[in-house]
Amino acid sequence: MKALQMYINGKWVQRSNASSIDVKNPSNGKTIATIPRGTEEDVNNAVQAAKTAFRGEVWRQIKAFERGEILFDIADKIKSHRDELAELESTDVGKPLSQGYADVDAATRYFRFYGGAADKVMGDTIPIEDGLLDYVVREPVGVTAHIVPWNYPLQIISRSVAAAIATGNTVVVKSAEDTPMTAMRLTEFFDELDLPAGVFNHVTGYGHEAGAALSGHSSINHVTFTGSVGTGIAVGQAAMANVVPSTLELGGKSPNIVFANCDIEKTVEGVVRSIIQNAGQTCSAGARLLVEESFKQEFLEKVAERFKRLAVGAGMQDKDLGPILNEKQYRHVMAMIELAKEEANVLVGGNSVAVEGYEEGFYVQPTIIDGVNRNSRLAKEEIFGPVLTVFTFRDTEEALELANSTDYGLVTGIWTKDISTAHYLASRIDSGQIFINNYGAGGGVQMPFGGYKKSGFGREKGWEALYNYTVMKNVAVKYK
Ligand code: NAD
Repeated sequence: MKALQMYINGKWVQRSNASSIDVKNPSNGKTIATIPRGTEEDVNNAVQAAKTAFRGEVWRQIKAFERGEILFDIADKIKSHRDELAELESTDVGKPLSQGYADVDAATRYFRFYGGAADKVMGDTIPIEDGLLDYVVREPVGVTAHIVPWNYPLQIISRSVAAAIATGNTVVVKSAEDTPMTAMRLTEFFDELDLPAGVFNHVTGYGHEAGAALSGHSSINHVTFTGSVGTGIAVGQAAMANVVPSTLELGGKSPNIVFANCDIEKTVEGVVRSIIQNAGQTCSAGARLLVEESFKQEFLEKVAERFKRLAVGAGMQDKDLGPILNEKQYRHVMAMIELAKEEANVLVGGNSVAVEGYEEGFYVQPTIIDGVNRNSRLAKEEIFGPVLTVFTFRDTEEALELANSTDYGLVTGIWTKDISTAHYLASRIDSGQIFINNYGAGGGVQMPFGGYKKSGFGREKGWEALYNYTVMKNVAVKYK
């Protein structure tokens, strides 16, 4: 079992207090490592190091294309440790190994994408009058804070850290206390490079301690937060108290809208995959199935049949789905299923699963819930488990109303062969991403991603994310 350390100012450091946090393998409940329980003092040190590095001449003198090369080097390291990282992610998060590989490949692509972008973030000139040159430059914001959730740690750290470094910022990461393992390996990769001390820092610990100290720190210049709505609001408010901008990537209750004229086989597969990925512990999970009423029976039979064939197992067994992260999350999922048993109809699943040899893990059957009242918590709140709730609509307007009927607006799937209906809905649904006849577009490193409504604001991924980490400066020069 490893006793991991934090990384501050180019050095591995012990915690500033005596206590540590156990990191568990969700598949079998065994402790795999300990991390320091980072304190406000640790956060202060990390932010100060990042500030000093940002202000220093060494980092400033590194050319834009050289920052890109740093990111390419990290991508190479991730790729050359592909097996190790995929196994680590599967062990730490409990996700099926093949999904661990997908995460590692996405992380590699983030570092390559933003590595290539580093010397292409350009400014502008604005025509005013003869003798006056007006130009706009995009400067780095400074010290960027990155607070990440437990469900996709490597991917989520990679997407924001790569964009921040590409644009010339320095970084303080607060990893998720439950799943810090791949973040720690990534930190080791940064340590192996010859970077100026303080450019990359990694603090571990609890959200209400290290996380709160970081988001409320007066010397950070931007915070990227990915996690739940409640915490996102707290982080945004803490940052706002220092007039620091935030990018908030929060939860979802995303719908798949299925019309009778869809390609049934592809749609079944898309709907099923979108909810079982990472055992439903995904912000963009296709948690609600909205199906055309006349098509419900035929479609649902196929989805139910597919659900019954899904295999549950330990992460490294690489079945269709792994365990729920921990007992707390498991209790939440089971409480929502119990609510469904009281007020709706559990069509498939609805119970926990014992996986032989992994009795300490918290496994849940893939579950389909029908007959849900549209105002129920089951219809409105994240369950964050492999649980699909089913609703029907009679026409396009009702589908639209249902799609927009939660506080969230992260992702929507539309399944139909009628392109007019698909584009009409795409234009009317409050959702940061819309997928027509697919769901996820293979990970979408290049595509801006983020929420409407309580799913957050600001965009990550794609070119857009680079602008989170830059601030515009306008310069007007009178030369005549
Ligand atoms: P969470 O909000 O509990 O925690 C997220 C991070 O915030 C963790 O690192 C935690 O330590 C930290 N934190 C907790 N309290 C804090 C505080 N007071 N101040 C600062 N930091 C604090 O979320 P979670 O349970 O880890 O993740 C699941 C949630 O994340 C779900 O709601 C999911 O939808 C969402 N999510 C969103 C996206 C996206 O891109 N939109 C991606 C993945 C997960």
